Amino acid sequence: RLGRKFFDDSLEAAQVLSDWKVESLVKATGGECVGDLDSRKKLGFIRTDSRTIQPADIFVALKGERFDGHDYVGQVVTAGAGCCIMERLPESSLSVPVVQVKDTTRALGDLARYRRACMKELSAPDVIAITGSSGKTTVKEMSAAIFKEKWPERADAPSARVLKTEGNFNNLIGLPLSLLPLSPKHKVVILEMGMNAPGEIARLTEIADPDIACVLNVHGAHLQGLGDIEGVARAKAELFQGSGKGTILVVNGDDPRVVKAAESCSQEKIVFGMVDNGPGVPDVYATDCRTGDRENLSFVLHVHDQEILVTLQVAGAHNISNALAAAAIATAAGVDIQYIGDGLSAFKPTERRMQIVDGPSGSRIINDTYNANPESMKAGIATLQELGGGTRIAVLGDMLELGPNSAALHRGIGEVVATAGIDFLAVLGAFAESTANGAIENGMNRKRVHVFENKEGCISWLHGLCNSGAINPGSYILVKGSRGMRLEEIVEGLNGEH
Ligand code: ATP
Ligand code: MG
Repeated sequence: RLGRKFFDDSLEAAQVLSDWKVESLVKATGGECVGDLDSRKKLGFIRTDSRTIQPADIFVALKGERFDGHDYVGQVVTAGAGCCIMERLPESSLSVPVVQVKDTTRALGDLARYRRACMKELSAPDVIAITGSSGKTTVKEMSAAIFKEKWPERADAPSARVLKTEGNFNNLIGLPLSLLPLSPKHKVVILEMGMNAPGEIARLTEIADPDIACVLNVHGAHLQGLGDIEGVARAKAELFQGSGKGTILVVNGDDPRVVKAAESCSQEKIVFGMVDNGPGVPDVYATDCRTGDRENLSFVLHVHDQEILVTLQVAGAHNISNALAAAAIATAAGVDIQYIGDGLSAFKPTERRMQIVDGPSGSRIINDTYNANPESMKAGIATLQELGGGTRIAVLGDMLELGPNSAALHRGIGEVVATAGIDFLAVLGAFAESTANGAIENGMNRKRVHVFENKEGCISWLHGLCNSGAINPGSYILVKGSRGMRLEEIVEGLNGEH
């Protein structure tokens, strides 16, 4: 397939692999070389951050909102860069070859795609792509925990055999940067795919050429660029549609929009879901789910006709769905249920995602400040409702990027808080009033609903609740909002870290 387009034989692929050459950069990007095309000089790593350039590295001059990489080309050449990939040539000629392309972001993707294609020829790692509105990073990390059981880091080969998206590098820049370090030692690559607009997942799919493609769910996130939830569904479906014939599709059987997206695709499928949720038993499902009695979850994992008891060191019923997704991905990759059970049990929550930490006066804080959209807010509130029998407090910030329906969606979250019987609600941000009103209109006592202008106000109010004894051992405080709200500052403030 793709490999043949680039390589006449795998020997050529092997050469590209060991070192980038100017010639292979031109071939991968379709750009034009200004300077010494035949340069035999071995080039180093592909980098986009001018501050990290080492001698012989390749610098891709990206244009961002605040920075233009073209402004730093002189600097990277001084630092020893071996080649620059640029859209515009500098006024005075450079001492290193330049590959000129129409669009450097696209070129970065093309380079990653080229590397992926050449690895497919050589060592055929399993490339896994995960998209969805919520839970991508969690499922990526759960899957990585499973694959690390299967391929532990050996003393004689300490470098990891599992390559994954670092942090949240899931867009048109982050995904190529995650994929570029791919080498023959890697057995599996786990990539997160995010998007803000139609066509982005299609392009990421083209770059990654996944062997296993998973759509987790379709929620009302990133509505601004996509119109409505059906627009989100169409954009997520690009992963299934763009995948090759031999790709295994991993399908959330509990999400009708994901099921629908898979229906029109002919590839082999593995379905995960809760067993009692629909017609037909999924390939991977859970029974005997226990949530909320402690800060962990347990369930019996079923993979086809095998089963195993899993205890997860995380809270929140939605994490059972995430664990099933990871189990289904691993099953698609041929991993044994024993490794799946061990990996899931070893998994620890990622920073600021449902991370349960000590709070003031013996309370516990659910630090879910990494991000928020309506579905993940509901999941967070449901987790707060599940946990413990003491005072439950929700400290909620705005959900950003929701477009014209923002006020109504915040009001809806207020309603969820009221219905869940949460004891206190504190809200911050431009839509704080909407959330508060939603709660009050749905029966929450207005004395227990507080709108704060700033985080300091909210922190001192929480300290007041500690002093009055309302916050005590057994209390849980959920802190959650969009990334831009930086609500982790409340968690830090409560624990005296400021
Ligand atoms: P991003 O789009 O920001 O990369 P993501 O898809 O990677 O997000 P995570 O970082 O794994 O998602 O989780 C973010 C938050 O979403 C979690 O803290 C949790 O509150 C919520 N969440 C995770 N999984 C689910 C799920 N399956 N259903 C609903 N909410 C979820
Ligand atoms: Mg993520």
